[in-house]
Amino acid sequence: MEHSIRIFALNQGNILNFKLGFMNKKTIVIIGGVAGGASAAAKARRTDEQAEIILFERGLYVSFANCGLPYFIGEEIKKRDSLLLQNPKSLWDRFRVEARTRHEVLRVDRQNKQVEVKDLLSGDIFLQKYDRLVLAPGAGAIVPQLPGVSAQNVFKVKTVPDSEAVREWILKKKPESAVIVGAGFIGLESAEALKRRGLKVTIVEMLPQVLPALDPDMAAFVARHLESQSIELITGDGLKEMHGSPAVYEVMLQSGRLVPADMVILSIGVRPELSLARDCGLAIGSSGGIEVNEYQQTSDPDIYAAGDAVEITHLVTGRKTRIPLAGPANKQGRVAGANAAGGKLTFPGAVGTAIVESLGITAAKTGLSESEATREGIPYYVSFTHSLHHAGYYPGGALMHLKLIVEKENGRLLGGQIVGESGVDKRIDVIATALYARLKVTDLENLDLAYAPQFSAAKDPVIMAGFVAANVSRAEIGTITCQELQKRKQNKDDLQLVDVRTLDEFHSRHLPGAIPIPIDELRDRMDELDPKKETVVYCRIGFRGYLAALILQQNAFERVFNLSGGILVCPDNEIDV
Ligand code: FAD
Repeated sequence: MEHSIRIFALNQGNILNFKLGFMNKKTIVIIGGVAGGASAAAKARRTDEQAEIILFERGLYVSFANCGLPYFIGEEIKKRDSLLLQNPKSLWDRFRVEARTRHEVLRVDRQNKQVEVKDLLSGDIFLQKYDRLVLAPGAGAIVPQLPGVSAQNVFKVKTVPDSEAVREWILKKKPESAVIVGAGFIGLESAEALKRRGLKVTIVEMLPQVLPALDPDMAAFVARHLESQSIELITGDGLKEMHGSPAVYEVMLQSGRLVPADMVILSIGVRPELSLARDCGLAIGSSGGIEVNEYQQTSDPDIYAAGDAVEITHLVTGRKTRIPLAGPANKQGRVAGANAAGGKLTFPGAVGTAIVESLGITAAKTGLSESEATREGIPYYVSFTHSLHHAGYYPGGALMHLKLIVEKENGRLLGGQIVGESGVDKRIDVIATALYARLKVTDLENLDLAYAPQFSAAKDPVIMAGFVAANVSRAEIGTITCQELQKRKQNKDDLQLVDVRTLDEFHSRHLPGAIPIPIDELRDRMDELDPKKETVVYCRIGFRGYLAALILQQNAFERVFNLSGGILVCPDNEIDV
């Protein structure tokens, strides 16, 4: 009896909700129809079956895969339609979301809770009321207003039509050379795409290194690889102007250097689309994104925001920042959509995990780099390891360079960077998970990761990195980086530098002033060294150096340091050849 009454009460409740739902049907308007906006639309529908959901997108397509655009140019992805994950019809059929492409929202009128929209095809302007609004306008590609920028063959890679234009130029004009301006993630992916299409590619980067998100020592591995694949790299020089009309034939750099170019791709970064938010008086955060709380709610409780245009909490520092990447945009969109429809989901923030592959080399980063840790004023140490991506005895192991940035005081992991040819993706994800969980390097060394020879080693590269960094945390061994060594030498500090590799290795290249004593002779030749002096030992990758440091330490040498990561991470100009 009790049971049936409860069922009756529940059913009554549902019927009531259903009726109220129809009576109070909310209108949710979404601006922007890609990662953030489309995720918001779908989740809003899953949260509220009754709501009216209208999505405005300025461009031709909704829910397209920007991340796939370079591969469409490179022709790994053959058909444009493969990039289109949804379209207005499928959004309507599956989710009853009214997606209007080629519709630009011109203004948000918060007082009257309406947006002013322009139909870009007809030119008509109309008002659309909302109960809840979701802003997901993304970030626009930065296009510097330099001479030649509007030439026919100067491109950006941001939308499907952008990448179609690049393909068409290649097909029709058969260019032989290309200049890519900007050596960030999209620049490197575009370089691969154009190289695949048979062009001679030059990458121009104003900063002194490729992949500015990475530390210079890690980016150097990427640069060397790209050069080995016949990509010309010009770093420390910016674009000044482009010559030729209607099509560019060369670019001039700030140094005055001229580089021939049958086409140019600009990939110098993105800027958040803030105009709508700013014009309607929403708070913009100190990092330059729309301010939101953990519910993705802006300073107006009826307006939510998601994606590249918003601020995000960095989970390592706790500070607000911007991380314009697809993962955060999708997750924020989902939270914004749910909450706009009456839900209560939260998005805590992100650690900033990114990965790029170009011509066979993969580089990935999560958490803080050295320069970011310095900027945050967090005392840290770094630890390098170089491991094969799977067991050495199983054929095909590829070397992977791994760098950890660790909080000095307590051994907490602050960030990781990896460069290698295989297996980088899964290792960076393990480190990203460790960052999310606020693990210490002493936790990393104890992770229980899967092993069979074709996948990993019994001591996986991440675990190996944990061992090495934890040794430092426990003060079992002192380490020094190449940069620190360089400074100590500039200060003319009285160090004895010992190269513990074989003599053949020493003679091929070594650090200036090093004393060669191969590791296997060290115990017998220790009297050639002064135990009172500070001693720096080094080898190629840091392992023999580590053993040598322990031998010396346990033989009354007072202050011994192993060169972290070995000579392999020292810049070429530091090494005598
Ligand atoms: P967007 O995807 O930029 O979408 C915003 C949309 O809003 C745009 O389509 C715009 O037309 C529309 N809009 C703006 N203003 C208005 C208005 N007033 N009215 C109507 N519509 C408006 N991230 C990764 O994590 N991994 C990758 O491998 C990766 N590769 C990338 C490769 C390329 C070539 C590009 C361009 C980006 C890549 N990204 C990658 C970044 C990722 O695509 C973005 O972080 C993500 O798309 C952001 O989603 P969003 O919804 O915030 O913005």
